[in-house]
Amino acid sequence: MNADAQREAVYGAPPEMLAVRDDLTPMLSQYADLCEEHDDAVVLFQVGDFYEAFCGAAEAVARTCEVTLTQREDSTGTWPMAGIPIDNAAGYLERLLDAGYRVALAEQVEDAEEASGLVDRAVTQLITPGTVVDEELLDAGRATYLGAVARGGSGGENGSDDDTQSDTYGLAVVDVSTGECLVTGADRELALEELERLAPAELVVGPDCDLPDLSFDPMETPFEPGAFDADAARETLSAYAPRPDAVVESDAELRAVGAALAYAEYAQGDAKLAYVTRVTRFDPREFLQLDATAIRSLELFESRSARAGSTLFSVLDETACALGRRRLEAWLRRPLVDRDRIEARLDAVEALCDDALARADLREHLSSVYDLERLVARVSRERADARDLRSLKTTLDRVPKVREALAGTDSDLLSDLRDSLDELEDVRDLVGDAVVSDPPQEITEGGVIADGFDAELDEVRGTAEAGREWVSNLEAREQERTGIDSLEVGYNQVHGYYIEVTNPNLDRVPDDYQRRQTLKNSERFYTPELKEREDEILRASDRADALEYDLFCEVRAEVATESARIQAVADALADLDVLRTLADVAVANDYARPEFHAGGGGGDGAADDAPDDPNDGTAEGGGIRIDAGRHPVVERAQDEFVPNPADLPRGSVALVTGPNMSGKSTYMRQVALVCVLAQVGSFVPAKSARLPVLDRVFTRIGASDDIAGGQSTFMREMSELTEILHNATGDSLVLLDEVGRGTSTADGLAIARAATEFLHDEVGATTLFATHYHDLTDAADDREGVFNLHFTAARRDGEVTFLHSVADGPSSSSYGVEVAQLAGVPASVVARARDLVDETDAVDETDPESAADSEADGVAATNGEVDEAAEDGTLAAYVDGLENGHGESENPNQATATAAAAEPNPELEAVAEALREADLVDTTPLEALNLLSELKGRLE
Ligand code: ADP
Ligand code: MG
Repeated sequence: MNADAQREAVYGAPPEMLAVRDDLTPMLSQYADLCEEHDDAVVLFQVGDFYEAFCGAAEAVARTCEVTLTQREDSTGTWPMAGIPIDNAAGYLERLLDAGYRVALAEQVEDAEEASGLVDRAVTQLITPGTVVDEELLDAGRATYLGAVARGGSGGENGSDDDTQSDTYGLAVVDVSTGECLVTGADRELALEELERLAPAELVVGPDCDLPDLSFDPMETPFEPGAFDADAARETLSAYAPRPDAVVESDAELRAVGAALAYAEYAQGDAKLAYVTRVTRFDPREFLQLDATAIRSLELFESRSARAGSTLFSVLDETACALGRRRLEAWLRRPLVDRDRIEARLDAVEALCDDALARADLREHLSSVYDLERLVARVSRERADARDLRSLKTTLDRVPKVREALAGTDSDLLSDLRDSLDELEDVRDLVGDAVVSDPPQEITEGGVIADGFDAELDEVRGTAEAGREWVSNLEAREQERTGIDSLEVGYNQVHGYYIEVTNPNLDRVPDDYQRRQTLKNSERFYTPELKEREDEILRASDRADALEYDLFCEVRAEVATESARIQAVADALADLDVLRTLADVAVANDYARPEFHAGGGGGDGAADDAPDDPNDGTAEGGGIRIDAGRHPVVERAQDEFVPNPADLPRGSVALVTGPNMSGKSTYMRQVALVCVLAQVGSFVPAKSARLPVLDRVFTRIGASDDIAGGQSTFMREMSELTEILHNATGDSLVLLDEVGRGTSTADGLAIARAATEFLHDEVGATTLFATHYHDLTDAADDREGVFNLHFTAARRDGEVTFLHSVADGPSSSSYGVEVAQLAGVPASVVARARDLVDETDAVDETDPESAADSEADGVAATNGEVDEAAEDGTLAAYVDGLENGHGESENPNQATATAAAAEPNPELEAVAEALREADLVDTTPLEALNLLSELKGRLE
């Protein structure tokens, strides 16, 4: 049984209960009913202070939550039972979610004390990865989406779906915790990419969608296919948008957003979600397209290495509040392509960079801003308590200050944001007047509503207060009346108010005292009048508590009617926090404002091969030019970072060579990150940058990829390459890192060469290609737009160091040998290696065909592995070639010469063996040096 089936096995009513259905106690019968109604989840059944599960579900809960499995015994049998305490359910619920369970909370919906007989229970909330609203289960820095995908066509009876319709996909997401609702549509490929970008935690999939394996792992939830019906969807959406068809642009979109909302409603107890005040449609083409591979390999949010926290997001995340943190995430995931919008953000960032005071003020005020989006949603769901409302007021109190902080800044975007900061005085004053400043957590036990807010409450409280006052004066009065100085008036939970007289004074007790309780040294009494007052006080305070609760609910409902206005404020605060964060980061790390070439941008579908902008007087003609660029993440992780320039004319292909660990990958990514940051509207880690507006960034980075998706690395590499070759345009930036490594050298080189030519000749995408195929550098000879860059190593203080600095031209074909020399490999070995390399080069030069061709011929005659080793310019490869006694098998002379040179030398043999076993891909420079010094030791 697979994991899904295992989970599903415990959903629904337990068979052993159904077997004795008619004999079950009323409570278990109710449990069985609810399980049957919600047979897509573990039903957690409230019994007093616990949520209980029974039978198979009990075993699953006990195992997953590590709670004790107990039993409930009654006349009908013995039922396994496991419970989790309601008071701190969050942690247990999280475990159940993590284990892939869906949970339905069946809560008592009437007061147990007032119920006659069985307490009524109902499922009030479905808890699944995409529908959680509990603050403790949510990630503050990321939206938690529930998604729905639908495929074109009406699916209805009138069969309006023609071919073009059925190839459109609709995609909608709802963040149930904030009310954000997005919908988009595109062809299959783009829609899937967008799906990966949004990465909903849970997905309902419409008929005929047939999704491939996704790079994230959403819970796929079966949901009534009827919800995807166009009419049903229109009906659902009409509760959120007065003209549903005006919001969406295709049937598929309509059906996706309808189903997403329907499922969200279902999860929240089947009611309209009042806090979803806006359904936003967007077009993926309005943004720089970063597919899941690019997001991953550029390490925007997740680090690929063990160094946790080293992501672009973590470098940028100086946000002051959760609103800002989620917004920063969204901006990074979706950089812009509209130049005006980019410049507007850059203007705002620049204005804030120039105004340290505004930045500091904003930071201070924004840091006491609560998570308004989630707070408003709780208010609407009637889950907000008095403290939440006070938090809302605290936040609204900050709004005028935030506006003030912006007063002196000069940017259109900032003034727009300032204008949209509604101070919501009505809401603020309502909460301020209604709720005491430090309310208790419970809203049913009084102490919540402020004095002076409600005349009736004041009167009832007055009555209670007068009663208490009367009681507090009673002591003095009775002391005087009875002459007993030690007489005391007190109160306890069980007996209420009493008058206590010590035993020696009992003879002086008046006649109207009634005995209430006897203690060792004293007696307690009450008087009819005291009893009457006591009842009055109790009645009044009960009444006050009930009144307070009602008043609180009224205030909360009134606040809920202003959801849309509050959300608009939240929206503006989120943007402001991100802009000030970008400014802070820019100042702290010495970033520069990027400039864009006039015109351009893929947003309006600008033609792929649009000519270089004639207005752009610069020589690079729409290319990427970065002066002293840095990698924003790597530069923070180490003491010294060597800045590097980039000058990539539009449509050019730069081939980057150099030894392992010399900085190729870092360099390529930093170019991409500068472009991405710029289109987010951020300053960039460089002295200056002049950039085009890119439509897409493609990456294929890292030959040492794990074999995650079940595909072999090479297959995956090739399918990613395919995608790039199909989809890149003249406005795209393409990074290829060690493509072709997963196959024999001949094949790999051939593929790399062909891809380079295609990118250059047909696609015209600006490309950076880091390669260990030294022969690829020849490609620069016959194509003007292809050129070489390289990284080198040097010897400094007796150690090999990488300069990390980029230079023109290809690196020497024998850089592996150079590194070996720098590391101190004996001179005779180095000299011999050099001879071998020279011979190989000579062979290449005399070969009339291109390197790729000669390689392709060679492959038939040689074993791929050996071949690769000989061609690979690394030290290990060099040693491999030495050991195997041949380099290029198509040259018999050379093979003989090599064999002759490799006189068996056991010491050398052992060193070679050790080198062969070293996995250089996973070796740090330090480890490499240690290894080398050990090997050197052995040779000496
Ligand atoms: P390659 O791709 O050539 O194997 P990497 O780009 O992975 O090399 O760089 C290896 C290491 O070198 C990085 O992890 C980083 O620590 C360091 N490095 C790279 N570029 C620079 C630089 N410009 N300045 C300083 N250190 C760098
Ligand atoms: Mg690399």
